Amino acid sequence: MALPIVHHPDYDAKFAVNHRFPMGKYSALMRSLRARGLARDGTLVESAPAPAAWLRLAHDANYVDQVLRCEVPKPIEREIGFAIGERVALRARLASAGTVIAADIALAGGIACNAAGGSHHARRRHGAGFCTFNDVAVAASVLLAAGRVSSVLVVDLDVHQGDGTAEIFADEPRVFTFSLHAEKNYPARKVPSRYDFALPDAVRDAAYLECLDDALGRIAEALSPDIVFYNAGVDPHVHDRLGRLSLTDDGIRERDRRVIAHFRGRDIPLVGVVGGGYADDVSELAERHAIMFETAASYA
Ligand SMILES: [Zn+2]
Repeated sequence: MALPIVHHPDYDAKFAVNHRFPMGKYSALMRSLRARGLARDGTLVESAPAPAAWLRLAHDANYVDQVLRCEVPKPIEREIGFAIGERVALRARLASAGTVIAADIALAGGIACNAAGGSHHARRRHGAGFCTFNDVAVAASVLLAAGRVSSVLVVDLDVHQGDGTAEIFADEPRVFTFSLHAEKNYPARKVPSRYDFALPDAVRDAAYLECLDDALGRIAEALSPDIVFYNAGVDPHVHDRLGRLSLTDDGIRERDRRVIAHFRGRDIPLVGVVGGGYADDVSELAERHAIMFETAASYA
């Protein structure tokens, strides 16, 4: 079976090329996935804007309204890192729905990826750290509210701690949040996940993969979830502008393979989301993000 990939051309809100957030990577990623033969007729599923009712399951109604009306207060926009205009609001709704759709497909067929998502710094009351809505929190909440799952696992391997997801689900025992991240990286004040594994700077492939195996083993002893959301951020890469770790392309590939093999080997549905990755050259960045899709495709 081919890997289902959820996407929308407006995942790219077309920021200026010199913007601190490399928005062009979403279009570059689709070009890379097409060139690899992964994105094609029959594998692509188009996203649509998430209804407010879905967004309100993970975020305060007031904040959802502010985003949808493009009336987000300036201090929150500053915390997010960009202004919330029409394009950004649309993009946030599309990316959130994309993770919901991918989850739906994964529950039926085992695995699916969203060609965006992983906005793990967005909290219940406001966005933060380049994240407007927390798509994984929205998708997990939609599935739980509909009674389609009763246990959700979030495996967050973006180099930054998954503070927003941890905060949103702090009092939700049905969602187990796991974050493996660089200790000294953003956010300065971390919100405890159910399981956090903080790494020192400059960790390389072998040591990273050992920590990952250890963590996956411990989690497997603690729970057998109905679905796993995998944030495959590539910012642990040695050439990432914001990451502090030293993973190579091979390390990232092996990381993705181990996570996907671990859960698919246990027949647990898996949803892959893009997560963070920062580089001036968006083509190079897109190649890194494409690794997760290529790896997931071999398990589809
Ligand atoms: Zn990150």
